[in-house]
This record gives sequence, C-alpha cells and structure tokens, in this order.
Amino acid sequence: MLAQPLMKGSPVQVSPFDVERLRRDFPILRTSVRGKPLIYLDNAATTQKPQVMIDALRRYYEAQNANIHRGVHYLSELGTKLYEDVRQKAKDFVRADDWREVIFVKGTTEAINLVASTYGRSRVNEGDEIVISGMEHHSNIVPWQMLCGEKNAKLRVIPLNDAGELLLDEYERLLTPTTRLVAVAHVSNALGTVNPLRQIIAMAHAKGIPVLVDGAQAVPHMKVDVRELDCDFYAFSAHKMYGPTGIGILYGKSSFLQDMPPYQGGGDMIKSVTFEKTLFNDLPYKFEAGTPNIADTIAFGATLDYLQSLDWTTLTQYEHDLLTYATEQLTEIRGLKVIGTAREKAGVLSFTLENIHPHDIGTILDQEGIAVRTGHHCAQPVMIRYDVPATVRASFAFYNTREEVDALVRGIHKVVEVFA
Ligand code: PMP
Repeated sequence: MLAQPLMKGSPVQVSPFDVERLRRDFPILRTSVRGKPLIYLDNAATTQKPQVMIDALRRYYEAQNANIHRGVHYLSELGTKLYEDVRQKAKDFVRADDWREVIFVKGTTEAINLVASTYGRSRVNEGDEIVISGMEHHSNIVPWQMLCGEKNAKLRVIPLNDAGELLLDEYERLLTPTTRLVAVAHVSNALGTVNPLRQIIAMAHAKGIPVLVDGAQAVPHMKVDVRELDCDFYAFSAHKMYGPTGIGILYGKSSFLQDMPPYQGGGDMIKSVTFEKTLFNDLPYKFEAGTPNIADTIAFGATLDYLQSLDWTTLTQYEHDLLTYATEQLTEIRGLKVIGTAREKAGVLSFTLENIHPHDIGTILDQEGIAVRTGHHCAQPVMIRYDVPATVRASFAFYNTREEVDALVRGIHKVVEVFA
C-alpha cells in the first residue's frame, strides 16, 4: 500500500490509500478471535469504532456526566453544549438546511416508527396507500404494515429484477392519487443495491407524494446530501457509521415536521403543562421526550468529526474497488452464486454455495477468525424473491483490505473441502 494520508487537504490524494494507517484508528482490528487475527466482514450489521469515539464516551462518563437542557450548573450546561453541537455536526454531515430538522432517535428503526406513528397516523386514512420496495429491511416494512392494518390502508411494493434493481416502470404505476408516502432504502442491506434515489424522489414529487429514505446502509459508504436528494425524511443509525449504538438521526424537512403531532409525551417535549392542556415544544424538541442518550450522542460527535476529516472521494473509490475485487474473486469459486448483482452497489456481497447451508459456512469461517453474517438479514421478502432460505453476507468498511478478501476466499475453499 502507498503511504498516502487520507486526510483532507493533503497535497496528493491517490488510490489505493494508506489503509494500514487508517486501521490503526480502530483498536479492535488489532485483536484476535479463536487464535486468528480478526477479519471483520460484518460491517452492515454494525461497524467497528475509532479510538476517538471510545475516548469521547469514556471522557463523558469520567468528567462530563450530568443531565442536560434543564440544569443551570456547570456540568449540565457543558453537556447541553456538547450534545447540541452534535446536532450541528449531524446537520452538516448530511447537509441539511437547519439544525431543527435533525431529530435524535435510537436508530433507523425508531426514526421510521416515528414517521409512521406521527405523519402516518395523522395523514393516512382508509383506502390510502403506502409504497415501499421489495428490498426493504423489516424496519422499513413492519411499521408501515402496522399503520396500514390500523387505518385499513394498503401497502404496495415496488418489484425487483433478478439483479436486485427496482423496476421503475412498475413504480411509476404504483404512484396514484391515494399514495400518501414512498418509503425506500438508499442502499439495500441484503443485496447491496444503490437505488437511483434522485429519480425515485423526483417521480414521487411530480405527483405530490413525499418520500422517506432508509439511509442506514448508505451513510457509511457515500456522502449524502439531503438537499440535493430533496428527500422529505432520511433515517440513519450511528452504529453503522463508526459511531455508538443507541443513537440515530431522523432528518425531516421542517415543513413536514412542523405539522406532525409529537411522537411520545414526557419531559423536554413540552413548553408548558397543566392538567387541562399541554403546549408542545418547538422543533426538534417536540419529538424528543425524556432524558436522551446523552453519552452516545456526544461520542457520535467524535465519530462525525473523524469522518469529516476523511477524504470521501478517495474512500468511496477504495471501497468500490474492494467490492469489485471481492466480487471477482468470489465469483470464481465453483458453486458460489452472488445474490444481488445490480450495476450500482455498495458495501455488501451476499452469496450462497451450492448444497451448503449459509450457517455452516459462517461457522467454519468463524473458526478462521472471519466474521460474516448468515441468515435472512432482516429482509425475509428478499430471500423469498430469490428463493433462498438465507445467504452469507460479507459486508465491507473502508478499513477492510484485499488481504482480508483473500482470506475469505481461502476460508470458503476450506468450507467446500469440508463438505466435499
Ligand atoms: N434499514 C437497513 C437497510 C438496515 O440495514 C438496518 C440495520 N440492519 C436497519 C434499517 C435498522 O437499523 P437499526 O437496527 O440500527 O435501527
């Protein structure tokens, strides 16, 4: 590898970048499992964490802990500032217009549930329709299904071709005067497909239909610009983008958020309370009841600073090259079938091996120190679409290397030998 820094502002940016240098920022990558150096290829489930984030979490509990927003003492004011600074950082990260459009939630799942129970409950009525796609994670299916059940509305699904791409002609037909919302993934966690979001959003907007984007698998791999996309809601989780668990973001256009009823009732989301009446707080606090996840939010801020210091053009190219390399190497293995061969893909390589169950593959790879995910990846309709019970999923982050891909290939050859 060339010893080129990946930091922004360095005089020359070349690919391949100095991945070894970057790996040193992630302490867990120096560890071993089952006596072998860890090869972590389960990044779509959750990514590993940089030292700066771990330090920030520790610093918070060691020196900064207090409840925020209501205290007048030093620590409370410090915590409030650190916490609210992260809102600005998150706003800048996805290039939102205004910090009030950034709602802190537990993660993508809660972000989608928030929209379903507030926007959905207040705007969807009997006979209305919600359009989702055939590649959604369960968290972008079940909340809409629950809403449709409650309201006697209908869930419509955009079908996929064999490569795992959305059929946009069919999509066009699904957009009708009764469609209340389109909810679609930016990147599929099971197939790796990157959806043509700008087109999807423009098509919905042409008929006055708002769009929610599940960005959980996109933000770790590409620079997202919510204004350029013109999406109405964008949901993502910190833990899938090198941040802590338990914190995520719902971005929403203020024009929508203003009119939506609150999500949960409690402290912080109010302006005043009497037994007769409650006045709700302004954005974004109207949607943030109770003591929030202060520690993880502040630690997420350290991750966002870290990510902002990286050169994303180089990084995205590196990841793209790595995925192409992995796809080429794995495709050469006899009996291996890649599930998800869209032209635009990011981060994910799902596959099956003839006559060998994915769980057996995962268990043998684990003996080699290789962590992959096996199962339905919380996307059972995708498994049904491709008529497989499960897949093996290797998912990549910018700290993975070609050497790790080579080890994966050797591991799969071992699996084949065991079952020969
Ligand atoms: N959507 C997608 C595409 C995902 O990959 C995931 C996590 N696997 C989620 C939603 C749910 O994210 P979380 O569990 O962090 O809420």
